[in-house]
Amino acid sequence: MATGDDIKAACADLAGILRDMLRGVAFTGAGISTECGIPDFRSPGGLWTRNRPIDFESFRSSRQMRDEAWRRRFEMEAAFGGAQPGRGHKALARLLAEGRLAGIVTQNIDGLHQASGVPDTHLVELHGNSTYATCLDCGTRYELGWVRGRFEASGGAAPDCPDCDGPIKTATISFGQPMPGEAMARAGALTAACDVFLAIGSSLVVWPAAGFPVQAKRGGARLVIINREPTELDDMADLVIHADIGDVFEAVGQPEAAAEIARESIWVFSWRRRVLCFEIRIKRLCWLSGAKRSRRYAADGVGRFSAAVRIGLAQLAGSGRRRS
Ligand SMILES: [Zn+2]
Repeated sequence: MATGDDIKAACADLAGILRDMLRGVAFTGAGISTECGIPDFRSPGGLWTRNRPIDFESFRSSRQMRDEAWRRRFEMEAAFGGAQPGRGHKALARLLAEGRLAGIVTQNIDGLHQASGVPDTHLVELHGNSTYATCLDCGTRYELGWVRGRFEASGGAAPDCPDCDGPIKTATISFGQPMPGEAMARAGALTAACDVFLAIGSSLVVWPAAGFPVQAKRGGARLVIINREPTELDDMADLVIHADIGDVFEAVGQPEAAAEIARESIWVFSWRRRVLCFEIRIKRLCWLSGAKRSRRYAADGVGRFSAAVRIGLAQLAGSGRRRS
């Protein structure tokens, strides 16, 4: 687990990356909305581990499944309908308004990026949106209030499209439903052109969406991962912060916190230079004494420096003792 000092230094690095960013892309997952009271349905104990998700084929073919899907949707509305954008959403909306972000790609269906002021033109919703519905056959849009009125009036039956009798479903992408081609293409184009890819609050395991960070990195962009838990792609990233997303953006966005971070980073910078010079000497000493582990520790810089010195010196002392 990272210490507070590690996170402060990482936030300083993040502040620098955001300052220099010209056409970044933010890729967001459930973690950005947890502070808004919306749980990660995939997490252990989350909604999906208790209520098996209804896949697309079942929804389309079974009236009973459609009734159940809409019952769950209105149950969710009661629990999370009043959710407001969090600190992460607001920070990204600011970066977009400043022209540093070219767009936001999200796996979330909660509509909180729009609620923070992000226009649809700059937002790609890979898994759709649960705050409105569409007819699966003719594509007509229906608002939730309309669906709810019909649902309640009929005693819990999912309404069909008045125009074509097709099934009406939230505008989300369900399991078993193909990824939306247009959204995937827009996300791919944003990723191909970005200089920084910020992966925020996603465990980066849901494919094909998780392919975008890899694409960005291969295209030469810097990859930043901010998530509470480790992700599959941490090893590939230029900067990884395992901390609360709201806290991270608050630290980066506040002038007083930024000043603190700046002082911190100057200190870290000067130390890094000293460590680098010292590392070379230590490595040479360790090489002379046959200590192989030192390089791995020393290479990680400031955080591992004391460990490198300790191990290097201990091995030097050990080899000295063996000689005597
Ligand atoms: Zn229709």
